[in-house]
Amino acid sequence: TRTINSAAALESKVTWNDIGGLDGVINELHECIVWPVTYRDKFVELGIKPPRGILLYGPPGTGKTMLAKAIATEVSANFISVAIPDLIKGEFGESEKALAATFENAKRSPSILFLDEIEAIFGTRENSGEVGKKLISQLFLEMDNIPEDSRLVILAATNAPDLIDASIQRSGRLDKKIYIPLPSESARLDILRRMVRHLSIEDDSDILCDLAKHELSGAEIKLLVRGACYVAIRNNRETLVRSDFETALQENKRVSTSSSIFDS
Ligand code: ATP
Repeated sequence: TRTINSAAALESKVTWNDIGGLDGVINELHECIVWPVTYRDKFVELGIKPPRGILLYGPPGTGKTMLAKAIATEVSANFISVAIPDLIKGEFGESEKALAATFENAKRSPSILFLDEIEAIFGTRENSGEVGKKLISQLFLEMDNIPEDSRLVILAATNAPDLIDASIQRSGRLDKKIYIPLPSESARLDILRRMVRHLSIEDDSDILCDLAKHELSGAEIKLLVRGACYVAIRNNRETLVRSDFETALQENKRVSTSSSIFDS
């Protein structure tokens, strides 16, 4: 059985500075995960237990994975990521054994264990397969057996909270739920500003405000910025101009319409 390894060491660390438009969520995560370490004595004195696990739910591409990585950076914890569908497919060997080995590894040092697409463990109503059922029991067993003083926090993410069984939200499991919304216009502007901060852009202060009017997710904004960089490179420029972003917007639109034709 292979254990699931921490995120590639070569990957540069995500920090709060990289995340736009989610200040409220960042504060909440900070209180749930950092406070229990900083104010350990207070928590003991008042007899309060911080959540062991947190469910991040909301539309795709809104920063759930980023949030988990950034909190790991803040508390200097290992970031261990498991895509539940891969675990079910048996890509890591026998699913329950792989899950047990992952928890064993995660309990050894301060860790953020990120369980992505957690809804997959519950299957669909037609298909709540045997692997899924065994895995659910194993997951609950692991969560219920984390020692009180352990520095392991579980963050799970889903785009489909309706598929999640309430039993996973019992105390000591994922007993806190945080909604991660699509970004508002001002949030999109904040995301854009952070994404382009290392780029050279022509002196036109309206570009970013105008781009922020487009209803895009954080992941789509990332594609837009990357697309604009490609257009600039194609045109042998180091400074990005308004038309680079406009071309990228058009190109991305074309890609998404053609993929929806193929999908249907
Ligand atoms: P999914 O549900 O599809 O797995 P997710 O919610 O986990 O998506 P991420 O993987 O965190 O989303 O986001 C994908 C990419 O989009 C990130 O690597 C980042 O570049 C960008 N992004 C998304 N949201 C934000 C944000 N709030 N601030 C900055 N960048 C963002």
